[in-house]
Amino acid sequence: MNCPECKTELVKKYYKGMIEVETCPRCRGMWLDLVELDQLEDTAFDEDAQKGSLFHYQRRGDRLCPHCGLPMDEFQYRLFDLHLNYCAVHEHGFWLDAGEDERVTSLMTRRARDIHRKEEAESEWKQVLRNMHAFLRKRDGS
Ligand SMILES: [Zn+2]
Ligand SMILES: [Zn+2]
Repeated sequence: MNCPECKTELVKKYYKGMIEVETCPRCRGMWLDLVELDQLEDTAFDEDAQKGSLFHYQRRGDRLCPHCGLPMDEFQYRLFDLHLNYCAVHEHGFWLDAGEDERVTSLMTRRARDIHRKEEAESEWKQVLRNMHAFLRKRDGS
């Protein structure tokens, strides 16, 4: 397989020692299938149900899939400010430019933090309601 960006032949590499990916030795881009993209996200945030839907504003891009040579779609990643390329025709995988892997993990770290904060706020609010109910019950009882 060749890099969709600079046509250099991709080489296999273990990403963070865990995920086997194809990378471009020249432009440092990275090719991942859906499972590998999920594994990459999981290094920062592994609650799949809370990640949000993956594809938004999908449209035809100008890069070609290194597997089948058909144009890939460009899409907005989970409504974040990040655009990735994807072989939509055969679902071969995703192309990440240099540094976009770090963007994916930092966005997932942020998401994990936001969700944790939201859960904390909700449980605090529930506690407020509980206290209020207890107070009202006590008042009614006396
Ligand atoms: Zn390249
Ligand atoms: Zn393809």
